[in-house]
Amino acid sequence: MKARNFRYIRPASLKHAYRILAESGGDAVPVAGGQSLLAGLNMRLSAPKLLVDIGDLKELTGQSNADGTMRLGALTRHAELLHSELVKKHVPLLVRAAAHIGHVAIRNRGTLGGSLAYADPAAELPACAVALGATLVLGNLKGERDVEAEDFFKGLFETDLKPGELIVAVKFPVMQAGTSIGFAELARRQGDFALVGLAAVATMQRDRIGNARLAYFGCVDRAKVAQSVSAAVAGLTTPLADGAAFEAAIRADLAPDDMAGLRADTKLHMATVLTRRVLNSLSERAAA
Ligand SMILES: Cc1cc2nc3c(=O)[nH]c(=O)nc-3n(C[C@H](O)[C@H](O)[C@H](O)COP(=O)(O)OP(=O)(O)OC[C@H]3O[C@@H](n4cnc5c(N)ncnc54)[C@H](O)[C@@H]3O)c2cc1C
Repeated sequence: MKARNFRYIRPASLKHAYRILAESGGDAVPVAGGQSLLAGLNMRLSAPKLLVDIGDLKELTGQSNADGTMRLGALTRHAELLHSELVKKHVPLLVRAAAHIGHVAIRNRGTLGGSLAYADPAAELPACAVALGATLVLGNLKGERDVEAEDFFKGLFETDLKPGELIVAVKFPVMQAGTSIGFAELARRQGDFALVGLAAVATMQRDRIGNARLAYFGCVDRAKVAQSVSAAVAGLTTPLADGAAFEAAIRADLAPDDMAGLRADTKLHMATVLTRRVLNSLSERAAA
């Protein structure tokens, strides 16, 4: 299939983009890397009259680290996450996650802002943003506002973005000493979207898990902290031999649907196995 006809514009500045979006009366959508949007247009899942290409806007780029916060422009490509020394040092969870996103061509074009705005419940970066306690900077003609990642994701492919608003940047707390990260996913093939995935951030006292923030993807309706599992794993000592301590909590937090060739029960079992693997990797990775 081919997309319906649309007009295309490449604004010269962020302000210009805001003005076009505000004046379009809902007929325009922004396009960044195009890796999700263009596939949807070709399948005629949506038919906007105007595409506003924000992919060259300098105001949406850049990486900076100050006052315990790493700020990444919305146009940060997945490949940049993989290769940035600043990201490796201060937000290593994003490096772990980016390696699992699609294939090289997708990582070269796809952007952080696009992934968060699209809010696919099987995507890696929304779960990481929630687990890390990130803050999104959203902007429009009237100014900017900050929204916690946990409040940004409202439901299946639904976010707090208002018409005409753009994600400008994302602010991540830099990794502190004594904090550990864990990440793993199970997919049918390398590069496929995850069937079950987990991003975890936890404080560690030697091998004992302290405060934990666990966010699943591929088996939830939106990126959110798995409250019951996060509470159940606090105080556990790794390595864990099995998932008995948090199996019931996984059933309370996750509600996967049956899908072709994979029952919901199997997904819950996969989530339990994955959680144990991720928790057992935490102590090895605690920041010095
Ligand atoms: C074959 C294939 C495999 C993939 N595998 C994975 C995978 O394993 N994991 C994964 O997470 N993703 C995967 N993706 C999706 C990919 O990561 C996309 O790059 C990402 O989801 C969207 O980023 P983008 O910049 O391409 O956004 P676009 O496609 O340009 O836009 C996506 C949506 O976000 C909106 N948008 C974009 N930028 C902004 C902004 N700054 N502010 C407000 N709204 C904005 C657009 O209007 C659109 O609605 C895959 C894609 C393909 C084609």
